[in-house]
Amino acid sequence: MHRSEITIDLGALRRNARRLRSVLGRSQLWAVVKADGYGHGAVDVAGAVLGEGALALCVATVAEALPLRREFPGVRILVLGPSTERDVAQARDADLDLAVFDEPIPEGVRVHLKLDTGMGRWGLSELPGPPVNVVGLMSHLATADSDPGFARGQIQRFEEATARWSNVIRHVANSAAALRIPESRLDAARCGIALYGMSPFGEPPAVDGLEPVLRWESYLAQVRQLATGESTGYGRVFVACEPTWIGLVPVGYADGFRRDLTGTRVQVEGKACRVVGAVSMDAIAVELDRELPAGTPVTLIGHGVLIEDHARAADTLNYELSTRINSSPTRARRVVIDA
Ligand SMILES: *Cc1c(COP(=O)(O)O)cnc(C)c1O
Repeated sequence: MHRSEITIDLGALRRNARRLRSVLGRSQLWAVVKADGYGHGAVDVAGAVLGEGALALCVATVAEALPLRREFPGVRILVLGPSTERDVAQARDADLDLAVFDEPIPEGVRVHLKLDTGMGRWGLSELPGPPVNVVGLMSHLATADSDPGFARGQIQRFEEATARWSNVIRHVANSAAALRIPESRLDAARCGIALYGMSPFGEPPAVDGLEPVLRWESYLAQVRQLATGESTGYGRVFVACEPTWIGLVPVGYADGFRRDLTGTRVQVEGKACRVVGAVSMDAIAVELDRELPAGTPVTLIGHGVLIEDHARAADTLNYELSTRINSSPTRARRVVIDA
């Protein structure tokens, strides 16, 4: 048996892409597949969403773009992060688009100038005169998920600053904006999290018509009873105050089940069970209400166990949890389905 199994449902991904396309109307859907498709597998994800009418792929680095270029010749691939001189040369050779937020603007490569309208991170404070190789103008919203008023101000600043430009693609929206701020949609929207069926708002994804794409399952590798006063795991963080059945699951922080997920709930035999004690590198303990056989399946994410709930328990975001799930073959089995 594998320690755990990560299932990527491309059917759910395609339905999320269709949902976004219907929300976006005439604006193009650009799929953000950085960080290996938020931990879902960039090449699999890209193939599925391009089949659903996504018109570009976005990544953080030139290195992330190169394997995608080999798989998908002719598709627009935009590198969102900063580029070194060597990156620019590679981008030219691989026919990539580059987001540029510093002068001088590199030549001989398609450029999307990024204007800072309030994110206060990567971005030009002002747009230079239009060089010929600029094909796009972009900005990034700091609060699309939390403060739509501020986001609207950013969009307005962007529209004013770019009004005199023609024949360029304008794009500012991320998933949160694409879903809930209609005036952000412009010519294209760069959607990541929503494609994967996770909520940019930390809410159940079904609220926005989205379905989780990733499922993570393991099993009870050992079941034992702690007597009153006995503990499980490092530091004796959990001490049984009555005789308590616990199940040990062979997944830990090296698999991406973070240490601060103690207290979150996973599902065993259809029931929510609390993760107790310290999360180890390779194991967690869950509290059971009765003795169960070793081998009983455990759902860590999926079948109603929401990554958004784990994120809340760990005081982080679904983005961070999903990108850290370790799907390397030495840790987990990865299965791709199309259901
Ligand atoms: C990651 C990223 C996105 C996608 O954001 P989501 O919230 O995942 O949709 C869009 N634009 C830029 C510049 C990004 O870095």
